[in-house]
Order: sequence, then C-alpha cells, then structure tokens
Amino acid sequence: MANPILHFMGLTKRNGEMPKVIFADTRGMIHFNCPSCGYVSVKPVGQIFNMPRTQHISCVCGNTYEVEIERRKSFRKKTHLEGFYARATPAGSFEQMTIVDISLGGCHLITSKKHSMGEGDRVKLVFELDNAKRTKIERDAIVCNVDGQSIRCKFVATATGLDPDLGFYLRVQ
Ligand SMILES: [Zn+2]
Repeated sequence: MANPILHFMGLTKRNGEMPKVIFADTRGMIHFNCPSCGYVSVKPVGQIFNMPRTQHISCVCGNTYEVEIERRKSFRKKTHLEGFYARATPAGSFEQMTIVDISLGGCHLITSKKHSMGEGDRVKLVFELDNAKRTKIERDAIVCNVDGQSIRCKFVATATGLDPDLGFYLRVQ
C-alpha cells in the first residue's frame, strides 16, 4: 500500500453532493480531512462505528462537509484468541475454537474439531481478549462462510449497540 497510515478514497467531486468515502487506517483510526482548509481530525473507528454511515463534520474553519464511512473495510486485527463456540438454536454444546482475526463487525475462527455448522447458523461465542484485563467477550454471531474448520461470522448487534471493550482492543497496538 502506498500510504499505510491514510487510506483515503475520494469517489467524487469536490463541491459536493456525494460524500467522500473514507476507511479506517491500520490502527483503526478514521481521518476526516476538511476539503475546504485541509484540517485533519482523527477519531477511533470504535467511537463512531454505531453512528450513521454518513457523518456531517464541522471543521474548525467553519466549513461543514459530509463523509461516508465504509464499515466493511473497518479495522480488522490478526489474533490468536482461544475460546468456545456453540450452536445457538437448537442449543449445542460448547467446542473449542481459535479466533484468528476480529473486527467490530465479526470474526474468523478455526474450530479445533470437525463441526456441522453451516451458512446462516447462529452461534454463541465466548472468548477472552489478550489484553491486560483478559476481558471476557460473549457474542452471538451468524455464520457467513464455512470452509472446512474455518468459519467466518458476523456479530449480531448487542442490545446497546456499543462494544467498548472490543472497540478499545481494536484501536490499541
Ligand atoms: Zn476546514
């Protein structure tokens, strides 16, 4: 990648109706770049993940502009997190797995044994983050893709819509 810090992708015109589409950088930060004065403000993706996709940004110069945040490209972290998964309906027993990458939207896990999970199945995931607190995370997820013992899934939104522990985990290191 030409610039590992800033991944900007301007889809459109300068004076615009179409908002600029922006992604998080490799550290999980989003850079808002004022088209009028060039001022850059930075926010962690964890902080804005649950806000509307289109954001109205008020710059220090007085200009207001719109950006669209591309969540699918939001920060994804390579991990080696041991944990357990179980089919949610009908409830199955917990089996061992390892999460090999994770983002706020979902994760990619490898099961320790053969399994019978299929696309669209709902699973319960329980795992610990490898941070100082060893934060325990429990999430429901929907299986999106299965390839042998490799399962990719999408997290089901939490009741509050917020996930501060995971958001913080994804923006450090
Ligand atoms: Zn400005």
